[in-house]
Amino acid sequence: MWSEEASALVTADRSLTELRAVGPFTATFISRWFAEVPDVGAPPPIRDGFLTYAHARAVVAQHPEWAAALRADHQMHSDETDGSAPLEGMAVAAAELGRQRIAITDHSKTLRITNGMDEARLAAQGRRIDELNARGDGPRVLRAIEMDLTPEGASDMDPGALARLDLVLGAFHSKLRLKDDQTDRYLKALANSDIQVLAHPRGRVYNFRVGLTADWERVARAAAATGTALEIDAYPDRQDLDVERLRAVAASGAWVSIGTDAHTTGELVFLELGLAAAILAGISRERVLNCLDDQTLADRVGVVRAAKRRGSAERSDTTMAGGKRERIDTTPGRKGGSRYLRRDGAGRFSNDQTSAGRSVAADKRIAAKNKAPKGMKDRGD
Ligand SMILES: [Zn+2]
Repeated sequence: MWSEEASALVTADRSLTELRAVGPFTATFISRWFAEVPDVGAPPPIRDGFLTYAHARAVVAQHPEWAAALRADHQMHSDETDGSAPLEGMAVAAAELGRQRIAITDHSKTLRITNGMDEARLAAQGRRIDELNARGDGPRVLRAIEMDLTPEGASDMDPGALARLDLVLGAFHSKLRLKDDQTDRYLKALANSDIQVLAHPRGRVYNFRVGLTADWERVARAAAATGTALEIDAYPDRQDLDVERLRAVAASGAWVSIGTDAHTTGELVFLELGLAAAILAGISRERVLNCLDDQTLADRVGVVRAAKRRGSAERSDTTMAGGKRERIDTTPGRKGGSRYLRRDGAGRFSNDQTSAGRSVAADKRIAAKNKAPKGMKDRGD
C-alpha cells in the first residue's frame, strides 16, 4: 500500500522511513535486501495476482484519459452496517478525491455479522440519501446495496425494495472455500433479475482465501449476455476480479463496475487499483459503468432490469428457479435468523437443505474469525 516503490526512494537517496508504517528497524532490513537481493521465488496462489498501489499509480499516471473519464466509486460502506463513517462523511471524503458520484452499498439482512439492513432500514437510508442529494453540494449519491446472494444465486431481499434502488450489487459471502468448479453458481447469479453488478466475484482475500474457481470465459460471456457488470473490487486485499481474469472480460465485451469497497474514508484512495487493473487488462472505457454520466447510468440500469425480468419470465416457464427465505428458531439462547428454502421441480418448497441456515456454533465460529481483521467483516466462510 506504499504510494511509491521502495526502489524509487533508494535510487533518489531518500530515507525508507518516508514509507507508510516503516520505522528505522524495518528500513534497515529493506536496505539489506537491496544490497543483497534475496531469492523470494514466485508467490503462492493465495498471494498471487495482486498489484501494488505504487504500480497501480504508475499505470494510471501513464493513462490520464482514464482518470479523467472515471467519475464514480461504485462500492463503499457506511456505519449503517460495517463501515466506520456515516454516509455524509463518505460523501465528503469522496468529493475531496474528485469523485462526482458514489454508491452507498451497505450490506443486506442475511449478513448479520455486518449488522446487515432489512428492507425498512434500507428505505430509511434511501430517504437520508435523497435529502443529501437535495442539498446538492456533494457528489451524486446512489441508493445502492451490496446484497448477499445465496449460494444458489438468489436474493435475500424483497425484489420490490431492490427495484427502488439506483444500483444493486449482488455478492457471495458464503461457501467461498469450495474447491470444485463454480461456473453454474455464477451463471445463476448473473441471471438474477434483481442485480446489475456481481461484486468481488472470486471472493478471494490476500493471504486469507484463494477464491472460487470457474470457467471465467463462460462467466464473462454470460455477464455480457445478461448485461450484468462484473466488479473490479479495488480493496487492496481483494483486487477481485484480477487482471488475468479481466482479460477474459475484455474479450467478452461484458461491462465492469469499479468500487473501492471502502469501509473507512481512508480507503477511498484505492480506486486506482481498480482503474489500473482495467487498463492492464485492456477493458474498453465504453464498458465501464463508472465512466457513464448519471443519466446514462440510470438508463442502463433500467434497460438491464427490464431485459433480465423478461429473461427470467421465460426461464420460469420451464424451470422453477429460486426459492424463499423462512424464519427459523428464535428460542432464548439461540440466535435464530433465516434459512433458504429451495423449490423442487414441481414448485413446492422443500426444507431439506439448510445451506444458508447457520447453526449457533457456526455463528460463533464466524464471529470469532471476523474479530481479528479490522474493516471487512464480510469475509465469509
Ligand atoms: Zn462483500
